[in-house]
Amino acid sequence: MGQAKPLSWRPVTELSALSAVPSGARDAVLKFYFGPMDCGKSTLALQMNYNHGRQGRRGLVLTKHDRSGGPKVTSRIGLGLEAIEVEDSVDLVRLVTAHDRIDYLICDEACFYTVEQIEQLADLVDGHGVDVYAFGLASDFRSVMFPAAKRLFELADEVCRLQVEVLCWCGRPGQLNARIVGGAMARTGEQVVIGDTDAAHVRYQVLCRRHHRAGQLGEGALSPLEAGPGAPGRL
Ligand SMILES: [Zn+2]
Repeated sequence: MGQAKPLSWRPVTELSALSAVPSGARDAVLKFYFGPMDCGKSTLALQMNYNHGRQGRRGLVLTKHDRSGGPKVTSRIGLGLEAIEVEDSVDLVRLVTAHDRIDYLICDEACFYTVEQIEQLADLVDGHGVDVYAFGLASDFRSVMFPAAKRLFELADEVCRLQVEVLCWCGRPGQLNARIVGGAMARTGEQVVIGDTDAAHVRYQVLCRRHHRAGQLGEGALSPLEAGPGAPGRL
C-alpha cells in the first residue's frame, strides 16, 4: 500500500470510450415508431401530442397522405387533429424555425417523406433541440423498405416496432402489408397509392411474413379496411 492507486480506482468514465456528459444536459431525440397498417400508429401519434401539450410543450403535427385525404392526422378509431401537410418541396427546418418556439414534432406517415426531409428532421434534433417523434410504415406492399423509413432506421436514436394485436388470418402477428388488386396479391406497382382504398378494387391486407412471402391471403379473409372504417374486422 502507499503506492500509486491501481487503475481500477479511476473513475469509470476515464476508461470508457464514452465522452463525459455535462450534468443537466439532455439531447433532443429522434424516434421512429413503425408497424403495419391498422396497428394504431396515428392513434399513438395523437396521444403523444396530447401528452406533450398537456405538459406545456409546444409542438407541430405533420402528416403526408393521411387516409382522410386532407391535412389531418386521423386514426381508424375515430380520433383526428388538424395537421400540416408535408409536400415534397417543404423544408422542415425552415418550417419549424419560422415558428416562435417549437419543442417537439409529431411526424405521422413519415414513410412518405423525402429522404432529404428525414435529414432535415435530424438537423432539427441536433441543431435546434427539437424532439422528433416519427410514425409510419417500414415497408411497402412488396415488403421493400420505403426510402424515408430506411433513413429513419439509420439515423434514429430509437426505433420501436408497434404491435398492437394486428394479426394475420392465421393468427400470427401481422408484420407486412399486402396490396390486393382484383383479388390477387400484387408484387409490382407504384410504391405509394394515396389515401384509403375502401371503395376501389385495390385493397390492403396485413399478413405475417410467412403468408406474405407465400402470397396466401386466407380463405374469405376480409381486412378491417375492406370492411370500412369503424366496422369490426373479420381477421
Ligand atoms: Zn399468416
